[in-house]
Amino acid sequence: MQTLALIVAAGRGLRAGGALPKQYRSVAGVPMVRRTVERFLAHPRIDAVLVVIGDGQRALYEDAMSGLSDARLLAPVTGGDERQASVLAGLSSVEPDGDDVARYRHVLIQDAARPFVPAEMIDRVLDGLETSEAVLPVLPVVDTLKRVGDGTVETTVDRAALVRAQTPQGFAYAAIVEAHRAARDSGRAVTDDAEIAEVAGLAVRVVQGSEDAMKITTEQDFTQAETRFAAPMETRVGTGFDVHRLGPGDGVILGGVTIPHDRALQGHSDADVALHALTDAVLGAIGDGDIGAHFPPSDAKWKGASSDRFMIDAIRRVTERGGRISHLDLTVLCERPKIGPHRDALRASIAGICGIDIGRVSVKATTTERLGFAGREEGIAAQAVATVLLPASDRL
Ligand code: MG
Repeated sequence: MQTLALIVAAGRGLRAGGALPKQYRSVAGVPMVRRTVERFLAHPRIDAVLVVIGDGQRALYEDAMSGLSDARLLAPVTGGDERQASVLAGLSSVEPDGDDVARYRHVLIQDAARPFVPAEMIDRVLDGLETSEAVLPVLPVVDTLKRVGDGTVETTVDRAALVRAQTPQGFAYAAIVEAHRAARDSGRAVTDDAEIAEVAGLAVRVVQGSEDAMKITTEQDFTQAETRFAAPMETRVGTGFDVHRLGPGDGVILGGVTIPHDRALQGHSDADVALHALTDAVLGAIGDGDIGAHFPPSDAKWKGASSDRFMIDAIRRVTERGGRISHLDLTVLCERPKIGPHRDALRASIAGICGIDIGRVSVKATTTERLGFAGREEGIAAQAVATVLLPASDRL
């Protein structure tokens, strides 16, 4: 065996927001650590991949890697409190027993939070290892650098000799294990593995890094990464139409909003004709039946049901397909009550139920010039158009 990729994913950092350690956060539906692992498994010169996880993160790891079957992916190793201890735990776990020949000649140490490392950059690091014991991918500093104290510039720093360090950093396995142990024993804290090598007196050769290998840290980084990995989407449109009869009562529920009126809509559920039309429009856009198929009126459990549950179920079906709602456009047809004064309340309510921005919800209303059932105030009709983005796929 030649080369091990050691991926450090032991951080607990939540600084990019969200409830998960950031390496387990999904980027376009796939946990970031898995994307990083897959990058290395896909590289023909990598013989094994080992992930160092944080204490108590085994379940998160298993979940992130579920369904990934590749014999080159080794069982994860639990790291320590600091990155340095985590790397050493990973390196030690593949150490030869007794007089065995070392299992790996080279090791690439990689941050889990850099999922876009290009294959050519991995090649440059590996090529460098043919003649050096330590290889560091770097990028030039493009901005002018200033040394600042007390809120004012003290001096301009010459950036010509400065570079930005990235990962994967490559090492001769035996040399870096030894250097890590020495650093641990000296109690010296370092920020990356190249510094460990440096302190141990190894010559650290630099090779060209890549802006693609950016570390994903901030919320803005996640947004950029999302765009980059996002599957191509295609637009689907669905329409919905519904009518409910008006009967005795003191208000109508439209879009989840109760509007005072001298009558009420009659129906098996809460008769929210607006949400019913919208639900059917969303189901239509994804080709998944209609509201009656999923929530049969013959089933007593939907009697009096609040219609937001139908809408939420339709949204879930969209999300499960990797899609999202682009826009909802609702038209309510009735003489009374007047919808205009409640328009924004309806928009806010529908947006809230669907978990989308209010700017993606349109509510319109019209009378039918006193013609037909709506004109005679026998009932209220609603029609809706849903625009949905779904991942483009030959299968769909
Ligand atoms: Mg209905």
